[in-house]
Amino acid sequence: MGKLIISKGYAATNDTDPLVPFTFERKEPGVEEVLIDILYCGICHADIHQSKNEYGRTKYPFVPGHEIIGRVHSIGSQVRNFIIGDLVGVGYFINSCGHCVNCVNHEEHFCDNGMMPTHNGVLPDGSTTKGGYSNCIVVKEKYILKVSEKLLLPAVAPLLCAGITTYSAIKHNQIGIGHKVAILGLGGLGHMAVKFARSFGAIVTVLSSGVSKKESAFELGAHNFVHTDDEARSKMEIGSFDFVIDTVSARHDYNKYLNLLRKDGTLVLLGVPPEITPIHPGLLIFRRRKVVGSFIGGIEETQEMLDYCATHNITADVEVIQPDYINTAFERMLKGDVKYRFVIDMSGL
Ligand code: NAP
Ligand code: ZN
Ligand code: ZN
Repeated sequence: MGKLIISKGYAATNDTDPLVPFTFERKEPGVEEVLIDILYCGICHADIHQSKNEYGRTKYPFVPGHEIIGRVHSIGSQVRNFIIGDLVGVGYFINSCGHCVNCVNHEEHFCDNGMMPTHNGVLPDGSTTKGGYSNCIVVKEKYILKVSEKLLLPAVAPLLCAGITTYSAIKHNQIGIGHKVAILGLGGLGHMAVKFARSFGAIVTVLSSGVSKKESAFELGAHNFVHTDDEARSKMEIGSFDFVIDTVSARHDYNKYLNLLRKDGTLVLLGVPPEITPIHPGLLIFRRRKVVGSFIGGIEETQEMLDYCATHNITADVEVIQPDYINTAFERMLKGDVKYRFVIDMSGL
């Protein structure tokens, strides 16, 4: 067995209590692995879902975090693409089988043999992977992204999940010039969806429950803003959109938003509320509408997205916090009170 590195971070220890400072061990990098000093980590709503065991699969102690930016601290003897000091990113997964059809086609996130998530993944020895709310992480070089030095670092971290999830959904559904697109929910994913949809030439409407987000929605690039409680405005939008991109984290009525799609329009689900919610078949059948999902993106596409962002100067709008603010950040996100991503500065650990 290799040597161990003492790592410190924050962990949930059960489904109700706040996260607490937590010290644990990581294995030293193997020959193809890289040890990364973590500089910043974004707070994704998936971290909250899993800390609170909303899907019933969380193993405690749980160290969340999969929007990681850091610098290479040391490398294994067979690492070819990184050197000490490189600026790098790590997203939602840190391994996959490498030989199934999805891995071969650069869609490792859909690995037939199960990709290894950055946190809460079960390793062969029975221990669990621990995420980016910590000072360092060890990852195989194949699953590490190269990050441009030219963008503001904390604002790049959210690209590793919120960024790739929305970029991939927009690209896969070929959303582009002239499409009328509604973005439902203006949080971490929602605000990146606005930026990418706009960048790809779509006509963007934000559907939000937060009236206070109207002005900044326009600053992000939206053309229109509709408050979801505004029945009159919502009625005007019925049957008008080519796509609705749904990023809402809590239970809500999909039928209301299906109704906003034109014939052949598509509801793209990104948010993962834990509850099952019914969909009325008639809303699909009589307008030939579609409901599809999308899940993060592969390593190649994540690199493409990071490079696109560096070229087009796209980053997240962030509120940088110290680690002892994580629990307050969780509470604020549950109230929709975020503009638009909390990012933890790990120098405060
Ligand atoms: P977030 O920053 O907390 O944003 C979620 C937004 O949803 C809120 O800002 C709010 O927007 C809206 N919202 C929250 N509660 C609501 C409620 N009760 N009713 C209506 N709207 C509500 O979360 P996020 O990090 O963007 O993540 C959003 C969802 O995507 C989560 O479920 C997360 O797990 C999931 N996710 C999926 C993927 C994937 O690959 N598919 C990747 C990452 C995350 P307004 O204030 O504008 O209404
Ligand atoms: Zn995420
Ligand atoms: Zn595979």
